[in-house]
Amino acid sequence: MGYAMHIRNIFNDIVPRANIDVKWLSDGRYRFPVIFSLERASRPFKVFEPTASEDCILCARIRKGRTSAEITPGMEWLPASFPIKAYHGICYPADHRAAMLVDDFIQFGMFADRMGDAVICINLRGSGASIPEHFHGQIHLDQLTAVDGASDSQPAFPMLHCAMETLADDGLLRLDRIVNFPVFALCLHGPWELLGCWVIGYLASSTTRPVNLAIAPTGRLFIIPRTLEKAPTQENRYGCSEMLGLISPVTRTAYDALDSIEVILQALSSCGVQHPKEQQAIVEHALWITRSLPSLRGVNCHAHA
Ligand SMILES: [Zn+2]
Repeated sequence: MGYAMHIRNIFNDIVPRANIDVKWLSDGRYRFPVIFSLERASRPFKVFEPTASEDCILCARIRKGRTSAEITPGMEWLPASFPIKAYHGICYPADHRAAMLVDDFIQFGMFADRMGDAVICINLRGSGASIPEHFHGQIHLDQLTAVDGASDSQPAFPMLHCAMETLADDGLLRLDRIVNFPVFALCLHGPWELLGCWVIGYLASSTTRPVNLAIAPTGRLFIIPRTLEKAPTQENRYGCSEMLGLISPVTRTAYDALDSIEVILQALSSCGVQHPKEQQAIVEHALWITRSLPSLRGVNCHAHA
């Protein structure tokens, strides 16, 4: 069907538009879209502050009738107040909870598959989330289109199109490492229920660093471990969409000043995990979860057994 058409059907053809400029920065190896959204420019930068249920903005938006329950089954969809680009929505359970459930991944994954062109970006504490106390995903169209200021449709998230090197494949789950991208990242392929069980096992470890997760069509879960939340050269924290390669400075001044891909490569590298030993430790942990998933499922997915 397509995510944009789905939204327009529900909102009677009203396009959740963003007023956007886009430019591309490239060298011989990489090419990144850089976008400036006028609607986002009024967003004040603030350091992270914890939220309690009584002052949760996501809960308040439901009470005010600003969300739709028609877009993603079992979830509320809220048009982003500070959209990165058109059709940017925030999707979350009606219950105020920080925990991620296996069912969340099944719902998000099935939605991404059904739309075919939607990507769900998940920021957690230390990886760009403003309200990690209420679990939520950022839903994006995976293309930059004319309503995003692009002259023709172009992939919005470069990492999703990178080559991959397979680390393990048991016929049901395949763990890949992203290659030819400045950020260390893994991609797990498989049925959504197993991917949900895997990620909950992955996060239940004292070695877990801050991490971004991205859910993409055809059973793909991207895992992007983090070192810094905000690169010294950038004005804003990097969330999942930046780590996937869509760079979105908040102010016009920062957008205009960003004229070199070197600055982006440096920011992405420092926000990701660069040290080879640390990458190896993450891969070992991920491989262990992949191998052990049948026994872990007995604990984590009892309700689905
Ligand atoms: Zn809440």
